[in-house]
Amino acid sequence: MKRFVVGNWKMNGRIADLDDYFELCDAFKNPMVDVMICPPSTLISRMTNTSIMIGAQDCHMAVAGAHTGDVSAEMLADAGATKVITGHSERRTDHGETDEMVAAKTNAAWNAEMQVILCIGETEAQYRAGETLNVLKAQMAASIPDGANAHNLTVAYEPVWAIGTGLTPNLQEIADVHAVLRAELVKRFGDEGAGMRLLYGGSVKASNARDIFRLDNVDGALVGGASLKAADFIPIIDAAEQA
Ligand code: PEP
Repeated sequence: MKRFVVGNWKMNGRIADLDDYFELCDAFKNPMVDVMICPPSTLISRMTNTSIMIGAQDCHMAVAGAHTGDVSAEMLADAGATKVITGHSERRTDHGETDEMVAAKTNAAWNAEMQVILCIGETEAQYRAGETLNVLKAQMAASIPDGANAHNLTVAYEPVWAIGTGLTPNLQEIADVHAVLRAELVKRFGDEGAGMRLLYGGSVKASNARDIFRLDNVDGALVGGASLKAADFIPIIDAAEQA
C-alpha cells in the first residue's frame, strides 16, 4: 500500500509562511509516497497545483445555509482541497463533536467527492483503564458510515494523550492497536477494509517516524507540530519513502 503522510497545520499558517511550504514542494516534486498538508481554510486556494495534496481540517455536515463561521465540504472542494479530516480529537473536545456528527461530516465530504481521513483515539484515562480497544471499536462503528471504501476513507489512530505531548504508545502497542483496527475494518468492509490506509498520529517526529512506518498495518502518519516547518517535515517524508 502506498504510504500516506499528512501534515495538519491546525490553526497555524499565514501567507508569509508559504515560502517554507513551497520549499517542501520543491523537495518532493515526485514523492514516492502520498503527501498532504491540511492548512487553515484561508490558505487552501494558495497552496494547490503542486505535487503535495491539499486537504481541509474539518467540514460542516450541510451543503450550505445559515451556519455562521462554518465551511462546507463543497466550499473546501471549490477552494481546491481534495480530502478532509473528520473527527480530530481537538474538534471533538473544542466543539463537542460526537461520533454521529463525525459520520454526518464524513458523508458530507463524500457527497462533495472528497476523500476523508477519519480520526479516532482514546483519552489518557481510557488508556490507563485498559479501555483503548473498546473505545476505538465503538468510535469506528459509530463514526464510519456505510459506504466507506479503500478510496474514500483513511483511518487515523491518534491517542488523545499523544497529541502534542511528545508522548507516544510504544511500538508494540501501536502495532497491536493497528492489527485490531485492520481486523475490524475487514470484518465490516471486506476487501475494501483490507485496502484502507491506517495512519498513526501523535507526536510523530523525525526521530521516531521510521520505526513507526515499519510496523505492520501502519500505512502512514498524521503529523501536527512537526509538519509546520519544511525542515521538520521533510525527514518524516524521507522516512516514509525509505521505511
Ligand atoms: C495531530 O494534530 O493530529 C497531531 C498528531 O499532532 P502532533 O503531531 O503535534 O502530536
